[in-house]
Amino acid sequence: MLLIAGCGTVERSPVPDASTPVGPLDLERPVGRATGRQLLALKNDPDRCRATLAASRLQVRALENRRNGAFCHYSDVVQILRSTVPYSGPVHLTCPMAAALYLWERDIVAPAAVKYLSSRLVRIDHMGTYSCRRRQGGSSNRPSEHATANAIDVSGFRLEDGRRVTVLGDWSQGTTAERAFLREIRDRACGLFQVVLSPDYNAAHRDHFHLDMGDWGVCR
Ligand SMILES: [Zn+2]
Repeated sequence: MLLIAGCGTVERSPVPDASTPVGPLDLERPVGRATGRQLLALKNDPDRCRATLAASRLQVRALENRRNGAFCHYSDVVQILRSTVPYSGPVHLTCPMAAALYLWERDIVAPAAVKYLSSRLVRIDHMGTYSCRRRQGGSSNRPSEHATANAIDVSGFRLEDGRRVTVLGDWSQGTTAERAFLREIRDRACGLFQVVLSPDYNAAHRDHFHLDMGDWGVCR
């Protein structure tokens, strides 16, 4: 059973219900009820994922597979060259992550900026994608999803009117509208990504949203 409605402290199964057929994902169609399961299906089907990106308006460049030490490696990773909005730095992500991010920025973040902040989203700031490290930076923890380019840490949003809304500055201290904006895009990210960690999760996430397509299934 996949629960994608609210965010809260819901723990979700990482495995889609096998009895429910999942049709192919068209990234140019709006996010719908099946989108989360369609994205999940791309995880084990690199050819289908590549074709899904190729059929969309998202412009990417395939990166060479990479291995770096015992647990840091990636395959089927793309660099986003052009999306609906620019990012503050290079975005290197697994194919399913790139697909989910594209839908999140276009169908969730950009409309929420207009709805709550009455301005257009013009840039997304992030703190990194691929990074060879373990979870929470510990020396014996499981490898982070960042170690396989399967995660991004999003820290803020630039608006056309010049405003910048940040997780660090506005999650608790922002205006009512800014706080509502950040919560809506966090909550709705949970329908696309496998793991969404915000300041509600722990202090290590006070300044960013961690989004990944791993197997954990947490939304908080
Ligand atoms: Zn992260």
